[in-house]
Amino acid sequence: MQYWSDILGHQRVQSVLSRAIDGGRLHHAYLFTGPEGVGKFTTAQTLAATLNCERRPADTFAPSCGQCSSCRRIASRQHPDVLFIEPTGKSVRLIKIDQIRQLQKSAVSSPYEGRFRVVLIDDAHLLREEAANALLKTLEEPPARTILLLVTDQPHRLLDTIISRCQRVRFGSLSLETVADALPKLLTQADPEAGDFDADSIDPTLFPVAAGYGEGSLGRSLAMLKSGMLAERQEFLEQMLGLDPRSPIAWLNAAKDLADSGSGFQEKLDVLTVFFRDMMLFKRTGTDRLVNQDLHELIARIEPRFSMEALLTTLDALMSARRRLRGNVNSQLLAEELLDRLRNPQTRALTPPA
Ligand SMILES: [Zn+2]
Repeated sequence: MQYWSDILGHQRVQSVLSRAIDGGRLHHAYLFTGPEGVGKFTTAQTLAATLNCERRPADTFAPSCGQCSSCRRIASRQHPDVLFIEPTGKSVRLIKIDQIRQLQKSAVSSPYEGRFRVVLIDDAHLLREEAANALLKTLEEPPARTILLLVTDQPHRLLDTIISRCQRVRFGSLSLETVADALPKLLTQADPEAGDFDADSIDPTLFPVAAGYGEGSLGRSLAMLKSGMLAERQEFLEQMLGLDPRSPIAWLNAAKDLADSGSGFQEKLDVLTVFFRDMMLFKRTGTDRLVNQDLHELIARIEPRFSMEALLTTLDALMSARRRLRGNVNSQLLAEELLDRLRNPQTRALTPPA
């Protein structure tokens, strides 16, 4: 995606950046912060294209054309002046010092063909300590005609000294309506990573549900839809709610299933969390403004089996597990600990009284 018009929302961000280009007052480093999946990285990539678009007059903001050789090579990540730095590693994802050294090496020379060298650092909070220190040196003595764009949804994990040397640009959440409306179009857009994903197979009633799950994050809503998790929600929830409290082995097996589901673990935690949040909302207000609108019947049937206290305990356990899963933890241990808390007969969280 290379067009500013394709970026949803964030009008304030767009005007900040376009004014900086117009006035020739670009900072040498920007820090894009905000919830995941709201368009921070897309905006960074679009900014890189705008700066180097061959059809843009100098020092005037004009949206990237998306057609010239520069724009096209930035979209396919093949432009020699636009560097992408992302965390690597399978079990533990980190940005290593070698990656920053490479940036420093290329920053010595001026851009090969573009007006600017643009360096995009995605998930910048995953900089290893020595990599962060190396990057700090670059920020302290910024190379000419080089713009660094750091992107993160967890700025509190960055060194203060890095934050203070960047111009911070805050991205807000998108409205649920914006997300729900955008999903059908985005699903049909070509995505090389999607494999043989069939957009037509998705039930349109899941769009508002996906928007609710994403909490204003287009990326998360899209991922939930594509993984098929939303379609399997009811089956998964009934399975979890039906675990026999007297059978430790059933709970251990369930923990193993959770841990083995890889990236599905986070989604399953999301499903449980949102379901219990819906139950709490339903208990308090009897409202029908639930995220799981389509599971209204299940919620109404299960809700009386839980006290408010049990709902709170469950939510607390789920939310803490979600937070910890985002860090680098052993997922098997995390799953066992979580289910142990939920099975605890004292709190009777996930296990409703017989
Ligand atoms: Zn262009």
